Amino acid sequence: QGDPRLKAISEAIRVVPHFPKQGIMFQDITTLLLDHKAFKDAVDIFVDRYRDMDISVVAGVEARGFIFGPSIALAIGAKFVPLRKPKKLPGEVICEAYELEYGTDCLEMHVEAAQPGERVLIIDDLVATGGTLSAAIRLLERVGAEVVECACVIGLPEFKVMLFKFMVEDTLQLSLS
Ligand code: AMP
Repeated sequence: QGDPRLKAISEAIRVVPHFPKQGIMFQDITTLLLDHKAFKDAVDIFVDRYRDMDISVVAGVEARGFIFGPSIALAIGAKFVPLRKPKKLPGEVICEAYELEYGTDCLEMHVEAAQPGERVLIIDDLVATGGTLSAAIRLLERVGAEVVECACVIGLPEFKVMLFKFMVEDTLQLSLS
């Protein structure tokens, strides 16, 4: 990708080896948030892509999808829907499980948060196996919404993401590679 902003964004993300456990190369976006220009550029790149795609819902995955999602939603004139870990949302929820390295976890969404036919963008900070985003897609599709795209700041190159209904090149707007 030729966008000159990508290099500065990539360099602003700190990589912490062996966090939270041995063997994980943790991509720490909190250092990106400290760099006003790089943070703004990251949001602007998403906004430029999604502004004219008739999207009415931006759904963010807890927790780091909550950092980028609302800014994008406000800028493109969409509502923001949090997809949360279990037992955080007080209203009627639906739940989708996804695989962790050991066991499973769940994402929940308020059932009334998106309506049938609404066009949705799903945001997270990072896609690795794609398990989390796949659960997010299933939640939105269960209420009849249309997931237009998923977008992340980081895609881990060692993972092959094949679960999506779109190609990984479309999914990752900012690639570290
Ligand atoms: P996955 O479901 O395998 O695509 O994992 C993506 C989710 O796990 C995202 O919500 C990320 O925030 C988190 N995650 C996975 N691997 C990493 C990593 N190396 N550094 C930071 N976050 C990660």
